[in-house]
Amino acid sequence: DSVFSNVVQAPEDPILGVTVAYNKDQNPVKLNLGVGAYRTEEGKPLVLNVVRKAEQMLVNDHSRVKEYLPITGLADFNKLSAKLIFGANSLAIVENRVTTVQCLSGTGSLRVGAEFLARHYHVKTIYIPLPTWGNHTKVFTLAGLSVKTYRYYDPSTRGLDFSGLLEDLGSAQSGAIVLLHACAHNPTGVDPTSDQWEQIRQLMRSKELLPFFDSAYQGFASGNLDADAESVRMFVADGGECLAAQSYAKNMGLYGERVGALSIVCKSADIAARVESQLKLVIRPMYSNPPIHGPSIVAVILKDGDLYREWTVELKAMADRIISMRQQLFDALQARDLNWASCLKT
Ligand code: PLP
Repeated sequence: DSVFSNVVQAPEDPILGVTVAYNKDQNPVKLNLGVGAYRTEEGKPLVLNVVRKAEQMLVNDHSRVKEYLPITGLADFNKLSAKLIFGANSLAIVENRVTTVQCLSGTGSLRVGAEFLARHYHVKTIYIPLPTWGNHTKVFTLAGLSVKTYRYYDPSTRGLDFSGLLEDLGSAQSGAIVLLHACAHNPTGVDPTSDQWEQIRQLMRSKELLPFFDSAYQGFASGNLDADAESVRMFVADGGECLAAQSYAKNMGLYGERVGALSIVCKSADIAARVESQLKLVIRPMYSNPPIHGPSIVAVILKDGDLYREWTVELKAMADRIISMRQQLFDALQARDLNWASCLKT
């Protein structure tokens, strides 16, 4: 008899389970709409040219070794990642008030940020949008935070429930953490306008709500890296504090390399240093230190002007294709008199 005989079969992850079902399906015209991974016109995964180039450079550099990275990851990668999301001229970076640690893609960055908040932040409640990416609730709950929701999507307008959002954040406990999708809200694709972001910012700052940005799609929403970081930069420009979890899965196509970063913007360099010292205590017993290959690719690309420009061109091409595919799907449904909203419900 097995000591594990009382273990019951767990349900498949609702998103990754779609891939399991997809792989089993024999239908030749099958399409996997589950995991949000970019596909080419031929339905194949894409490795960016600029990533292939960077990898070649890394392979040819025989001075590179496979030693452990520090607990906080690759220093260059962290600096460049902060610059990418907060902007090259961000005052918070200039003033050394940001701590950035390399984490296991977006999910790992969210988890490390949440574990830090559960240990060191005075309010243990996080508000997430309704609906949101399915993993948010589990990541934050397991990290020790209590999860509540704020209204976000209005099915009747298929847009933002802005008054509901303001009402719910307005009645949230002062100091509560608020999870915000920096852009390309998953799963609705609905983002606040600049004016709405500004109102959200004012409300959140007046109630001392702590913004925790999930930035999994910088550059994917509009095709422009700066435009997609505008929400985050508004909150950093006011001098206040916030957290940001970045993923390079989508915008650099590094999905399985698990490359991401958590940044915490603080009020002073001194506080940022203390926060970083505690992040290390969160990370060390969890996975000791992060992998070296993925962040090295990112650092090579972000550091080199030509490679960086090449990346922005390839990124824009992916974003444009996504936008055009959506339009074509919408048009095809309209042409067949199919209602978009009723399709989404099935
Ligand atoms: N956050 C959102 C909103 C996402 O959609 C995703 C991926 O689908 C992630 C975070 C994290 O992805 P990863 O851990 O692969 O970077």
